[in-house]
Amino acid sequence: MRKILVCGAGHGGLAASIILAENGFEVTVLEKAENEIMIGHEWEDRFDFSNLTGILGIKEEDLPDDIWRYRGNSVFLSPSKKTGVEISFSGDNRQKIMWRKPLISLLIKKAKESGVKILYEITVNGPVIKNGRVTGVETTDGTFSGDLIIDSCGVFSVLRMNLPREYGIECKPKYGDLFYARRAYYDKCEDVIPDYPFEVYLYHEKEQGLSWLCTNKNSVDILIGRVYELTDEKINEQLEIFRNEHPWTGKTILNGGQRAVIPVRRSLPLMIADGYAAVGDSAFMTMPMNGMGIDLSLNAGKLLADTLINHRNEEFNNEVLWEYNRNFHIRYGCEAAKNDGLKCAILSLPPEGVDFLFDNKIIQSSDLAGGGRNISFSTLMGKFVRGMKKPGYFFTLLKGLIHGAAVSKLYKNPPVKYNLEEISRWDEKIRRKDIKIDN
Ligand SMILES: Cc1cc2nc3c(=O)[nH]c(=O)nc-3n(C[C@H](O)[C@H](O)[C@H](O)COP(=O)(O)OP(=O)(O)OC[C@H]3O[C@@H](n4cnc5c(N)ncnc54)[C@H](O)[C@@H]3O)c2cc1C
Repeated sequence: MRKILVCGAGHGGLAASIILAENGFEVTVLEKAENEIMIGHEWEDRFDFSNLTGILGIKEEDLPDDIWRYRGNSVFLSPSKKTGVEISFSGDNRQKIMWRKPLISLLIKKAKESGVKILYEITVNGPVIKNGRVTGVETTDGTFSGDLIIDSCGVFSVLRMNLPREYGIECKPKYGDLFYARRAYYDKCEDVIPDYPFEVYLYHEKEQGLSWLCTNKNSVDILIGRVYELTDEKINEQLEIFRNEHPWTGKTILNGGQRAVIPVRRSLPLMIADGYAAVGDSAFMTMPMNGMGIDLSLNAGKLLADTLINHRNEEFNNEVLWEYNRNFHIRYGCEAAKNDGLKCAILSLPPEGVDFLFDNKIIQSSDLAGGGRNISFSTLMGKFVRGMKKPGYFFTLLKGLIHGAAVSKLYKNPPVKYNLEEISRWDEKIRRKDIKIDN
């Protein structure tokens, strides 16, 4: 039986584990947390529930009622907080959010039922390489080996960061690629529910990043996020500002209170090597504008499992795994790359530039409702006359869209077969289009 080692019980790794075990593979997950309860954060995430229920083999109506809810309407505030772009949701368009820990528990339960072996309290320290191939991993509990090592260790994966340079896999993120967040749910001192309870602040307090405050029935969910590391002083200062503006926010933490980092960039062009494949945050699979990574991670897990099932009797080498890498970019990586162009353009504008875009209706609710997916060259050209009041800001945004579209095209057309020289040239073309973000 083919042996698969999954490092880290991330969403994508668990999705792949379930499908592979159901298809006769021997799958072991190595997870550093002490037990299932310690995995994941104490907060709610937005994602497409059908991606989860598809893997679990259940209907959406079978999900327990107490683990999810609809989130209220959103408003995006400009850096000056003077202009708010409101987005109302109704009926099936309402955003659904689910608590993270039950989500992981559902995946783990299904994995166990499918025959996956999950080992806790094992920290992976790095890859074992033999004759240029990843054959296993070094851990706090000795060496484990497998026919394929799936890297689902998250954004700071020790596997990815310790791969030999000659594999050509980009190991370290650059400035602007990461989003440092701290999120907590506080108690509520007054019975208030605003019409637009989910308030998103771009360039919060004029700093590179985004924060939000969501007034729930019994709590206030506050996320403070920047593209640089947050100090305790910064978090406390921002919380005070939020409390002054939203006096119903209490001081007792009901849930969360942790810090975490999200990759907010285009996914890794090359994410495989002989005996190795990365999924989820370890391959930077998120939508850069909003940091949503669960759907991409689950879908990557499915695509990877499909590739392994298609080639179940072959060696899991570069040539075979490239099918997964390529399919991911054609289906999902291209859209994330387009979104990255927009994110980089916004981060390379000064806060006054973002104010200008909001105040002059160059960024509107239709643009923000889809996490920036609906902004295109043609929608922007329709706002050309308004944009010409401050051409520098308008053209920075336009440049981001043009770069995003060009990079997206490259992601849609990766080399057909695995050839490291050709892949390096393709990767180089992608990098040349990157917009540098200054701090
Ligand atoms: C504040 C915040 C809000 C977010 N909101 C959303 C949202 O609303 N919607 C959405 O789609 N996404 C959201 N995300 C992003 C989302 O969390 C990630 O994209 C998603 O978790 C995908 O990560 P993953 O499955 O690859 O791995 P992770 O969730 O990072 O899991 C990695 C696993 O590997 C384990 N691990 C790590 N290192 C080792 C090691 N060395 N040895 C063994 N085990 C190891 C970890 O313990 C963990 O269990 C949010 C992220 C943050 C921080």
